[in-house]
Amino acid sequence: MKKKDVFCKISNNELQNYKVFENDNILAFLDIEPFSEGHTIIIPKKHFNDIEDINDEVLSDIMIVSKKISKALKNIFNYDGIIIHHVSGEKMQDIRHFHVHVYGKNIVAHQNNLHLKKDYSSKDKQNALKDIAEKIKKKLNMIAMDKSY
Ligand SMILES: [Zn+2]
Repeated sequence: MKKKDVFCKISNNELQNYKVFENDNILAFLDIEPFSEGHTIIIPKKHFNDIEDINDEVLSDIMIVSKKISKALKNIFNYDGIIIHHVSGEKMQDIRHFHVHVYGKNIVAHQNNLHLKKDYSSKDKQNALKDIAEKIKKKLNMIAMDKSY
């Protein structure tokens, strides 16, 4: 049998993650090597390789949640803009399990380095990520209740 990829393990609760949203189809959690604060990855719980084979219902859920996470990140971190990216193709993907990145960007900061220079391997790493995940979760709940969002 094929070895399980990291995202299959996360969706089976076999690996720790900093969850910000979950429903029957999908799971959203913080990237532990963030491009900016709150950088979130959204995956289907079921394994799909890339955009060519993911089913439409699950893909719709992912895009709708991308929108909500975009609003949450912009609201919490005051970003100038949000980038949503997905890479398809076996040779191009770091992890061969469909995923979408949602992260904020400011015009001046981080212009030459995509990854934050913060040391997330320190002792504070888990608490910092936990705090950010909590903030996003709270904001998503507010967004869910407020139709004006
Ligand atoms: Zn997988």
